[in-house]
Amino acid sequence: MSETIFHKIMRREIPADVVYEDEHLIAFRDIAPQAPVHVLFVPKQDFATLNDVGEDSAIVVGRLATAAARYAKAQGLAEAGYRIVMNCNADAGQTVFQIHLHLLAGAPLGRFGTP
Ligand code: AMP
Repeated sequence: MSETIFHKIMRREIPADVVYEDEHLIAFRDIAPQAPVHVLFVPKQDFATLNDVGEDSAIVVGRLATAAARYAKAQGLAEAGYRIVMNCNADAGQTVFQIHLHLLAGAPLGRFGTP
């Protein structure tokens, strides 16, 4: 799979507002936030899209979701609520081909689906 801007962020070759990191994943603020809180959770293991994640790697996605929930709780966002989203390929508007989970929070969020 090809190198993405998120790999450069992980290697600190380009700046990002990193809010969490461990041996499995990194989380940083989205450069074009779609909600008052918009954080991306990116695994250190490479997968271009969710289609590339097999059952044997399901924990990778699970870690992203639980890290997002932990972050929301720590930031006092969990009671009010939040949304996690993973876009896959063209119809969903995926633009960076290293899987990532969007955490959106901080205000009532609109519905989603067809434009
Ligand atoms: P997606 O459309 O699901 O592939 O999401 C890619 C996200 O990455 C978009 O919300 C972009 O705003 C965000 N993004 C792109 N470049 C950067 C960057 N350098 N730092 C932080 N977020 C970025």
